[in-house]
Amino acid sequence: MDQLIVTLLSTFHNGQWLSIIAHVKNYYKKLYYDNPERLKCASFVQEFRSQLIWSFAIGYGIYFSCCGYLEWSYSVRRQSQTVEWKCQPNKWLTWQLYLDQIKWGVVGLACTNIVSALFATNFTCGGYSTLYLEFNSYSWIWWILQWPIIFLYQDYTTYWIHRMYHSRFLFVNFHYLHHRYYQPTSWSVTALHPVEILTLQASSMLPVFVIPVHWLSFSLIILYNYYHGIIQHSGINLKPFWWQPWQPDVMFHDLHHKYVNVNFGFNCYIWDQIHDSIKK
Ligand SMILES: [Zn+2]
Ligand SMILES: [Zn+2]
Repeated sequence: MDQLIVTLLSTFHNGQWLSIIAHVKNYYKKLYYDNPERLKCASFVQEFRSQLIWSFAIGYGIYFSCCGYLEWSYSVRRQSQTVEWKCQPNKWLTWQLYLDQIKWGVVGLACTNIVSALFATNFTCGGYSTLYLEFNSYSWIWWILQWPIIFLYQDYTTYWIHRMYHSRFLFVNFHYLHHRYYQPTSWSVTALHPVEILTLQASSMLPVFVIPVHWLSFSLIILYNYYHGIIQHSGINLKPFWWQPWQPDVMFHDLHHKYVNVNFGFNCYIWDQIHDSIKK
């Protein structure tokens, strides 16, 4: 039940969804394809302002309700039963670090929301993209194939970007911010240095500019990633569902925060097995 609620709440966790909404909006207005010059915005600034308001309202609304719910449900209500649910039962962040992760979580989200609003405005104003809306624009085989391709691309590049941020210079200057939370909570999902979170966002958005991507598959894969981003930082020892044999449990990323140089992957533990970086 808890996982279901988080799934629903995390649907609009990040402003990247605005890009999709902008496309769908254009489509149903019959402007995107019918107009050979594509839609010309009356005012880029005006459009950007409205995208920004939505981006912030949705982004922060979900961040606080989703993470707040998990914290209330476990850290507050089940505080006396930590052995049953907490990855690190006897260890907690200091109050100072606890508030710090929320502060940086808010900053990280602001960065992605601003960039997402820019993307969405660009799309709404007829900017370049390879996202498509009609199922029959490409073959059904491609529609099925793109799911694992996008998922594996995003997860594997995230693995390497993460490993890259563990090199000395990048770790000290950027990634260490996220690693001060040895006992992460869901608030720390976006508590990343602005440079790092924007690198990750750019990488995950890349398919929308490179290969034909149907809006539904892209949206649901992003939803999947957000859901697990929140869950994996929750510190709550949840297991993946039976239909996710590729998916590590919450302990996997919790161990990354605890031991630092192991378990760099997110949604597939196989990358760490292949590259021999898994916690033995
Ligand atoms: Zn790390
Ligand atoms: Zn983390």
